[in-house]
Amino acid sequence: MADMVVVRKEGLYCVPGDFYIDPWRPVDRAVITHAHGDHARWGHRHYLASSKSVNILKSRLGADINIEGLEYGERIVRNGVTISLHPAGHVLGSAQIRMEHQGEIWVASGDYKVGPDSTCAPFEPVRCHTFITESTFGLPIYRWEPQQDVFDDINAWWRANADAGRASILYGYSFGKAQRLLSGLDPSIGPIVCHGAVEPLNRVYREGGVDLPATQLVSETDKADFKRAIVLAPPSASGSTWTRRFGDYSDAFASGWMLLRGARRRRGVDRGFVLSDHADWPGLLEAIRATEAQQVIVTHGSIPVLVRWLCQIGLDAKGFDTEYGDEDDAVADAAVDAAPKPADGDAAAEAQPALAAPAASDEEEDEDQREGAQPAPGNAGAEEASDA
Ligand SMILES: [Zn+2]
Ligand SMILES: [Zn+2]
Repeated sequence: MADMVVVRKEGLYCVPGDFYIDPWRPVDRAVITHAHGDHARWGHRHYLASSKSVNILKSRLGADINIEGLEYGERIVRNGVTISLHPAGHVLGSAQIRMEHQGEIWVASGDYKVGPDSTCAPFEPVRCHTFITESTFGLPIYRWEPQQDVFDDINAWWRANADAGRASILYGYSFGKAQRLLSGLDPSIGPIVCHGAVEPLNRVYREGGVDLPATQLVSETDKADFKRAIVLAPPSASGSTWTRRFGDYSDAFASGWMLLRGARRRRGVDRGFVLSDHADWPGLLEAIRATEAQQVIVTHGSIPVLVRWLCQIGLDAKGFDTEYGDEDDAVADAAVDAAPKPADGDAAAEAQPALAAPAASDEEEDEDQREGAQPAPGNAGAEEASDA
């Protein structure tokens, strides 16, 4: 049977359904897995996404986009292809796309994680013949600690800073990561202050029924209160003059890449907290197994390693060449930094983990562009530049 989904220059294309999945060039019909910039781009004539993604997409791409929302599990038919969306556990509204045509079932994952996250619906395994998966952290070295342990570490760091009269600045991607971090903070320690790029997303999450602690903008906070505050900010604010207003501070970065010591060093932050909204290696294998798919196609991240592994366990696996980057890898270039360099013993010690580095390297630029340099129409990015 011919492949139901192929790669075209515009993006992943569902042949019988005549629509694209997270296309990177403008198309007529786009089905969007989630609202991160590398998956949800501007300029499509029609968008289909999960109902919970609709407001996020409008706030990021413009209120006037032509968009239709679908509840999780709800089915619609396009050109004989039955489409339904299923939770991917990545960020609010994130969905896997299930496509059924003449008895054949394909599922495109978008980005996903299988671990807990109270800010979005949990990953739902969907049985299929072919599973199109991401592989951002598709190397055996990537294994996440329990989420609560990471939250405990963050709160302990914050408390120690507050007791010493120092602000705590915590960097994380403004959509998804920031809200997940918020959900784990202990508000009894001090005020929670959010950068102007983060706060509008908090609002969308609360409107979407997600319980988050109270937050305030920098402009709403007394200078004296910064000493006990934690400040959530996007990676692009790191090292900028924006941080000066907080006086004495300690800073930290929350990302899966923080597993690599070189990544922390490169970012120049005091602490790195390993927290990712992508599946780790065991999570990827568990998710793939649960689909019972015989064919697996890997779209981004560590493609060759995962493909080889899957072939070895008897699956029919291959890669797709896509333009997805990763919103979570603000420090991915640090992984490159950790790649073998004979002169640097420390980096060499981290060299094995850095197998994924070359693929991750250009994504850093994407990240910076998305977070800072090119605010989309109606995007919080504009606010970010001026802060608030
Ligand atoms: Zn994503
Ligand atoms: Zn992605």
